[in-house]
Amino acid sequence: MKYRDLHLHLDGSISLTSLKELARLGSYELTESDPYLLNKLQVSPDCRNLNEYLTKFAFPLFFMQTEEQLTASVKNLLAELKALDYEYAEIRFAPQLHLTKGLTQEKVVEACIKGLKDGPVDAKLILCALRGDGNENENYETFEIAKQFLSKGVCAVDLAGAEALYSTDKYKELFKRARDLEVPFTIHAGEADGPKSIYTALEFGARRIGHGVRAFEDKALVKEIARLKIPLELCPTSNLQTCVFSDIKDYPIMQYLDAGIIATVNSDNMSVSHTDVPRELELLKKTFSLSDSDIELIQKNSVIASF
Ligand SMILES: [Zn+2]
Repeated sequence: MKYRDLHLHLDGSISLTSLKELARLGSYELTESDPYLLNKLQVSPDCRNLNEYLTKFAFPLFFMQTEEQLTASVKNLLAELKALDYEYAEIRFAPQLHLTKGLTQEKVVEACIKGLKDGPVDAKLILCALRGDGNENENYETFEIAKQFLSKGVCAVDLAGAEALYSTDKYKELFKRARDLEVPFTIHAGEADGPKSIYTALEFGARRIGHGVRAFEDKALVKEIARLKIPLELCPTSNLQTCVFSDIKDYPIMQYLDAGIIATVNSDNMSVSHTDVPRELELLKKTFSLSDSDIELIQKNSVIASF
């Protein structure tokens, strides 16, 4: 079986081996023990919500601030995906988080595209805008750069960050710009916030929904997502860690498949969530006694949903 990941954050998927190389490239020597470093990269079992989960990204980001480090981070991730038998990945990151050493967003994206070149796995980039205060210009710039590199390594844009603190409807104008630029987009919605956020993302014209897992709270919305054929990028382990669900048994995967939704299964963050697509599929298979044809359907959905 060949795997595909459509919802994979670069900064949340830096392995320990990769981290050490990125540190060396920045002339840092990480002398701490492996368990200590792993603890810095991975979410703790007592994580309470998305806001807390998001604090785990500052550490790897510190080592992803030069062109060399960014190219290496993408290359290393592709090699790791190849070892896991992946055939395709859409890797996302927010260019504005890689500017502390003076790079421009354009340089950041170029460096990541360089990391894709001649890689062992077919992969494309999704550029994330970020929810927050005072970064409006950066978000618009991200979308302009996505347009510049569209079909040259970049396949789409996204909106990431603290959904419960900065609601999706605040970003209406930003996504109008994405539509004007004809850059396809997915939006993180229906993860920390509920169905309202998903309705808003659909209204904006999102081609996929990042997570969208809380759609089940509104039966009409489930029907609408199926009717519109808008794929959901589900990430089960991540949703358990951010406490969207307290028990995997409550995960609505069968409900979505039965409703005819194009449900895909993804890892979100391989290091922060300590997972990958094979493990996510195995978890669902075990929990819901999924048949081989259920798994095949999920895999096929990921092909259909690719940008
Ligand atoms: Zn995500």
